[in-house]
Amino acid sequence: MKKIIIAIDGFSSCGKSTMAKSLARNIGYLYFDSGAMYRAVALYCLENNLVSEDGIDTETLKGRMGDIEISFIADPVTKNSITLLNGRDVEKEIRSIEVSKVVSKVAALDFVRTDMIDQQRRMGESKGIVMDGRDIGTTVFPNAEMKIFVTASAEVRAQRRYDEIIARGDKADYNEILENVQQRDHIDQTREVSPLRKADDALLLDNSHMTREEQEAWLIAEFKKITGEC
Ligand code: C5P
Repeated sequence: MKKIIIAIDGFSSCGKSTMAKSLARNIGYLYFDSGAMYRAVALYCLENNLVSEDGIDTETLKGRMGDIEISFIADPVTKNSITLLNGRDVEKEIRSIEVSKVVSKVAALDFVRTDMIDQQRRMGESKGIVMDGRDIGTTVFPNAEMKIFVTASAEVRAQRRYDEIIARGDKADYNEILENVQQRDHIDQTREVSPLRKADDALLLDNSHMTREEQEAWLIAEFKKITGEC
Protein backbone atom coordinates (compact mmCIF):
# COMPACT_ATOMS: atom_id res chain seq x y z
CA MET A 1 0.00 0.00 0.00
CA LYS A 2 1.42 3.41 -1.00
CA LYS A 3 2.21 5.52 2.09
CA ILE A 4 1.06 9.11 2.34
CA ILE A 5 1.69 12.19 4.50
CA ILE A 6 -1.09 13.26 6.86
CA ALA A 7 -1.00 16.88 8.08
CA ILE A 8 -3.19 17.82 11.06
CA ASP A 9 -3.31 21.54 11.82
CA GLY A 10 -5.47 23.67 14.05
CA PHE A 11 -5.84 25.78 17.15
CA SER A 12 -4.11 25.12 20.50
CA SER A 13 -5.57 22.40 22.69
CA CYS A 14 -8.08 20.98 20.22
CA GLY A 15 -6.86 17.47 20.87
CA LYS A 16 -4.78 17.37 17.68
CA SER A 17 -2.00 15.28 19.19
CA THR A 18 -4.38 12.76 20.75
CA MET A 19 -6.13 12.26 17.44
CA ALA A 20 -2.89 12.24 15.43
CA LYS A 21 -1.32 9.68 17.77
CA SER A 22 -4.29 7.32 17.66
CA LEU A 23 -4.63 7.65 13.88
CA ALA A 24 -0.92 6.86 13.45
CA ARG A 25 -1.23 3.83 15.74
CA ASN A 26 -4.35 2.55 13.90
CA ILE A 27 -2.78 2.76 10.44
CA GLY A 28 0.80 1.85 11.39
CA TYR A 29 2.32 5.29 10.63
CA LEU A 30 4.92 7.29 12.60
CA TYR A 31 3.64 10.26 14.60
CA PHE A 32 5.49 13.58 14.92
CA ASP A 33 4.45 16.43 17.23
CA SER A 34 5.80 19.62 15.64
CA GLY A 35 4.52 21.74 18.57
CA ALA A 36 6.82 19.78 20.89
CA MET A 37 9.78 21.01 18.82
CA TYR A 38 8.83 24.68 19.30
CA ARG A 39 8.17 23.95 22.98
CA ALA A 40 11.66 22.44 23.32
CA VAL A 41 13.22 25.59 21.82
CA ALA A 42 11.14 27.69 24.25
CA LEU A 43 12.35 25.54 27.16
CA TYR A 44 15.94 26.02 25.98
CA CYS A 45 15.36 29.81 26.03
CA LEU A 46 13.94 29.69 29.59
CA GLU A 47 16.75 27.48 30.89
CA ASN A 48 19.43 29.66 29.31
CA ASN A 49 18.04 33.00 30.50
CA LEU A 50 17.13 34.16 27.02
CA VAL A 51 13.67 35.33 28.13
CA SER A 52 13.14 38.59 29.99
CA GLU A 53 10.40 41.18 30.45
CA ASP A 54 11.62 42.75 27.20
CA GLY A 55 11.02 39.54 25.27
CA ILE A 56 13.38 36.96 23.78
CA ASP A 57 17.09 37.58 23.28
CA THR A 58 16.85 36.76 19.58
CA GLU A 59 20.46 37.57 18.70
CA THR A 60 21.84 35.06 21.23
CA LEU A 61 19.23 32.46 20.28
CA LYS A 62 20.10 32.83 16.59
CA GLY A 63 23.74 32.10 17.34
CA ARG A 64 22.80 29.07 19.44
CA MET A 65 20.37 27.33 17.03
CA GLY A 66 23.15 24.95 15.97
CA ASP A 67 23.45 23.80 19.61
CA ILE A 68 19.77 22.86 19.89
CA GLU A 69 19.09 19.30 18.86
CA ILE A 70 15.56 17.96 19.10
CA SER A 71 14.68 14.32 18.59
CA PHE A 72 11.97 11.84 19.50
CA ILE A 73 12.07 8.35 20.97
CA ALA A 74 9.24 5.93 21.81
CA ASP A 75 8.54 5.18 25.47
CA PRO A 76 9.43 1.47 25.81
CA VAL A 77 6.29 0.78 27.88
CA THR A 78 3.53 3.12 26.63
CA LYS A 79 5.02 3.50 23.10
CA ASN A 80 4.17 7.23 23.38
CA SER A 81 6.58 9.66 21.79
CA ILE A 82 9.08 11.34 24.14
CA THR A 83 10.73 14.63 23.17
CA LEU A 84 14.48 14.92 23.74
CA LEU A 85 16.32 18.24 23.94
CA ASN A 86 20.02 17.60 23.38
CA GLY A 87 19.44 13.99 24.42
CA ARG A 88 17.52 14.83 27.63
CA ASP A 89 13.90 13.74 28.18
CA VAL A 90 11.94 17.03 28.44
CA GLU A 91 8.46 15.66 27.74
CA LYS A 92 7.03 16.88 31.06
CA GLU A 93 8.81 20.26 31.22
CA ILE A 94 7.73 21.34 27.73
CA ARG A 95 4.04 21.04 28.75
CA SER A 96 4.39 23.50 31.67
CA ILE A 97 2.48 26.81 31.74
CA GLU A 98 5.83 28.70 31.76
CA VAL A 99 6.73 27.15 28.41
CA SER A 100 3.16 27.67 27.08
CA LYS A 101 3.46 31.37 27.89
CA VAL A 102 6.55 31.96 25.71
CA VAL A 103 6.29 29.29 23.02
CA SER A 104 4.22 31.30 20.52
CA LYS A 105 6.71 34.16 20.69
CA VAL A 106 9.60 31.75 20.03
CA ALA A 107 7.63 30.07 17.22
CA ALA A 108 7.05 33.44 15.53
CA LEU A 109 10.80 33.94 14.93
CA ASP A 110 11.64 33.31 11.26
CA PHE A 111 15.04 31.68 11.91
CA VAL A 112 13.49 29.27 14.44
CA ARG A 113 10.80 28.26 11.92
CA THR A 114 13.30 27.76 9.08
CA ASP A 115 15.32 25.40 11.27
CA MET A 116 12.29 23.44 12.55
CA ILE A 117 10.71 23.18 9.08
CA ASP A 118 13.95 21.69 7.65
CA GLN A 119 13.95 19.07 10.40
CA GLN A 120 10.22 18.34 9.91
CA ARG A 121 10.65 17.83 6.15
CA ARG A 122 13.44 15.33 6.81
CA MET A 123 11.07 13.39 9.09
CA GLY A 124 8.62 13.06 6.19
CA GLU A 125 11.12 11.94 3.54
CA SER A 126 9.91 8.31 3.55
CA LYS A 127 6.22 9.28 3.94
CA GLY A 128 4.01 7.13 6.21
CA ILE A 129 3.79 9.88 8.84
CA VAL A 130 1.15 11.84 10.71
CA MET A 131 2.39 15.28 11.81
CA ASP A 132 0.38 17.81 13.76
CA GLY A 133 0.95 21.54 14.18
CA ARG A 134 -0.10 24.91 12.76
CA ASP A 135 1.49 25.09 9.31
CA ILE A 136 2.01 21.46 8.35
CA GLY A 137 -0.53 21.45 5.50
CA THR A 138 0.25 25.00 4.35
CA THR A 139 4.05 25.32 4.61
CA VAL A 140 5.85 22.17 5.75
CA PHE A 141 4.05 19.68 3.47
CA PRO A 142 1.86 21.69 1.06
CA ASN A 143 1.56 18.53 -1.08
CA ALA A 144 0.42 16.27 1.78
CA GLU A 145 -2.17 13.83 0.47
CA MET A 146 -4.43 14.20 3.52
CA LYS A 147 -4.92 17.49 5.39
CA ILE A 148 -7.16 18.10 8.37
CA PHE A 149 -7.86 21.45 10.03
CA VAL A 150 -9.22 21.04 13.56
CA THR A 151 -11.09 23.61 15.56
CA ALA A 152 -13.22 23.89 18.73
CA SER A 153 -14.35 26.84 20.87
CA ALA A 154 -11.68 28.46 23.12
CA GLU A 155 -13.71 27.56 26.24
CA VAL A 156 -13.98 23.88 25.29
CA ARG A 157 -10.24 23.79 24.58
CA ALA A 158 -9.29 25.51 27.86
CA GLN A 159 -11.48 23.06 29.80
CA ARG A 160 -9.80 20.10 28.09
CA ARG A 161 -6.31 21.40 28.92
CA TYR A 162 -7.41 22.09 32.52
CA ASP A 163 -8.76 18.51 32.89
CA GLU A 164 -5.52 17.11 31.43
CA ILE A 165 -3.34 18.99 33.97
CA ILE A 166 -5.57 18.05 36.91
CA ALA A 167 -5.58 14.40 35.79
CA ARG A 168 -1.76 14.47 35.89
CA GLY A 169 -2.03 15.53 39.55
CA ASP A 170 -0.79 19.11 38.94
CA LYS A 171 -2.47 22.40 39.89
CA ALA A 172 -4.25 24.51 37.28
CA ASP A 173 -6.20 27.75 36.99
CA TYR A 174 -8.96 27.63 34.33
CA ASN A 175 -8.95 31.39 33.67
CA GLU A 176 -5.18 31.50 33.26
CA ILE A 177 -5.41 28.62 30.77
CA LEU A 178 -8.27 30.26 28.82
CA GLU A 179 -6.31 33.49 28.58
CA ASN A 180 -3.23 31.59 27.38
CA VAL A 181 -5.27 29.69 24.74
CA GLN A 182 -6.77 32.96 23.41
CA GLN A 183 -3.41 34.72 23.41
CA ARG A 184 -1.73 31.87 21.53
CA ASP A 185 -4.59 31.80 18.97
CA HIS A 186 -4.03 35.49 18.36
CA ILE A 187 -0.23 35.25 17.99
CA ASP A 188 -0.47 32.10 15.83
CA GLN A 189 -3.03 33.64 13.45
CA THR A 190 -1.44 37.06 13.09
CA ARG A 191 2.29 36.29 12.90
CA GLU A 192 4.07 37.17 9.67
CA VAL A 193 5.77 33.82 9.03
CA SER A 194 3.52 30.80 8.37
CA PRO A 195 0.44 32.06 10.23
CA LEU A 196 -2.13 29.51 11.33
CA ARG A 197 -4.73 29.13 8.61
CA LYS A 198 -6.70 26.35 6.98
CA ALA A 199 -5.17 25.14 3.70
CA ASP A 200 -7.71 25.41 0.87
CA ASP A 201 -7.62 21.64 0.37
CA ALA A 202 -7.83 20.73 4.10
CA LEU A 203 -10.89 18.97 5.53
CA LEU A 204 -12.47 20.95 8.38
CA LEU A 205 -13.13 19.11 11.65
CA ASP A 206 -14.95 20.96 14.46
CA ASN A 207 -14.72 18.55 17.37
CA SER A 208 -16.39 20.76 20.05
CA HIS A 209 -19.19 18.22 20.41
CA MET A 210 -17.59 15.01 19.19
CA THR A 211 -16.49 12.06 21.29
CA ARG A 212 -13.03 10.64 20.83
CA GLU A 213 -14.53 7.51 19.22
CA GLU A 214 -16.60 9.53 16.71
CA GLN A 215 -13.51 11.48 15.77
CA GLU A 216 -11.40 8.35 15.33
CA ALA A 217 -14.03 6.75 13.10
CA TRP A 218 -14.27 9.94 10.99
CA LEU A 219 -10.49 10.08 10.51
CA ILE A 220 -10.21 6.42 9.50
CA ALA A 221 -13.08 6.83 7.03
CA GLU A 222 -11.39 9.86 5.44
CA PHE A 223 -8.03 8.03 5.33
CA LYS A 224 -9.64 5.09 3.54
CA LYS A 225 -11.35 7.40 1.03
CA ILE A 226 -8.05 9.09 0.19
CA THR A 227 -5.92 5.96 -0.04
CA GLY A 228 -8.63 3.96 -1.83
CA GLU A 229 -8.69 1.30 0.88
CA CYS A 230 -12.09 -0.28 1.58
O1 C5P B 1 0.71 22.17 19.49
P1 C5P B 1 1.20 22.92 20.70
O2 C5P B 1 0.14 23.70 21.41
O3 C5P B 1 1.99 22.07 21.64
O4 C5P B 1 2.22 23.98 20.09
C1 C5P B 1 2.84 24.94 20.91
C2 C5P B 1 3.00 26.24 20.14
O5 C5P B 1 3.97 26.05 19.10
C3 C5P B 1 1.75 26.78 19.44
O6 C5P B 1 0.99 27.63 20.28
C4 C5P B 1 2.33 27.55 18.28
O7 C5P B 1 2.66 28.87 18.70
C5 C5P B 1 3.63 26.83 17.97
N1 C5P B 1 3.56 25.96 16.80
C6 C5P B 1 3.78 26.51 15.56
N2 C5P B 1 3.83 25.73 14.45
C7 C5P B 1 3.65 24.41 14.54
C8 C5P B 1 3.40 23.81 15.81
C9 C5P B 1 3.34 24.62 16.92
O8 C5P B 1 3.94 27.72 15.45
N3 C5P B 1 3.75 23.66 13.44
